[in-house]
Amino acid sequence: MLIYKHKTEIEDYISQTKKNGKKIGFVPTMGALHQGHLALIDQAVAKTDQVVASIFVNPKQFNNSEDLNKYPRMPEKDIDLLQAQGCHAVFLPTPDEMYAGVIERTYDLGYLDTVMEAKFRPGHFNGVAFVVDLLFELVRPDIAFFGEKDFQQLAVINEMVRQKKHRVEVIACPTIRETDGLAMSSRNLRLTAEERKQAPFLYQLLKEARQQTASLTPDQIKATISNTLTKNSSFKLEYIEIVNALTLQPVSAFNNQPIQILIAAWLGSVRLIDNIQLLP
Ligand code: AMP
Repeated sequence: MLIYKHKTEIEDYISQTKKNGKKIGFVPTMGALHQGHLALIDQAVAKTDQVVASIFVNPKQFNNSEDLNKYPRMPEKDIDLLQAQGCHAVFLPTPDEMYAGVIERTYDLGYLDTVMEAKFRPGHFNGVAFVVDLLFELVRPDIAFFGEKDFQQLAVINEMVRQKKHRVEVIACPTIRETDGLAMSSRNLRLTAEERKQAPFLYQLLKEARQQTASLTPDQIKATISNTLTKNSSFKLEYIEIVNALTLQPVSAFNNQPIQILIAAWLGSVRLIDNIQLLP
């Protein structure tokens, strides 16, 4: 596997790869890789000729300096995992390298930048859009792979791609879970043993919500989950939303629309997010 730390190196490699007529698959990550990331690599290996991953803990998308400082970093282990998974090249820039000579960009993400993650993490999605925009300019992928784990992020990426006219197909990949249902996340490494035992409760609540769609309204389901978390758990709820899966607009009834439920909650000092499809 090729390992690049400089933008010029990855640009040269991409030019050569394109000249050879190879289809490029791209998986951007922040490292501390787990099976969720590796499932994206698998998809990329299956659908493209040359698979490029990036590992970059992007300071511009962190609205909380403690979260940035404590974000797990293990590049050597990540490189081994990527190589074993059949990845062809990895780009690991420093923040200085990534942003050298680049003028700050802002994105008008409209409604998407006002709700859920955006509401609780101001500036987060501008930082995500900025770094993925730059990475797409460098890697010029034919297909890029993102996880449904970050459901709102997927909508943001699609909007950025539309606005910037990137010629890339964005493929959404299902959330990979631990055997107890906890959505895999690099931040799970920061849970204490006790918190780790409690963490799958969020997914249980989402699955229960799926059972309740026949008898309760979206507002009733949200109230039930909110009450359960407030009364019986160590979680601190940030939001629970039931939305149209395509527009991310909240719904007041279940009427033949694709429906997604999304949640964010703190468990100790770790912020967990999850989501599942409620309907169909
Ligand atoms: P991150 O390293 O957290 O920025 O994630 C990099 C990519 O992996 C993003 O597209 C995430 O949505 C995706 N991802 C993270 N966790 C999972 C998971 N449990 N299942 C599927 N994809 C995931």
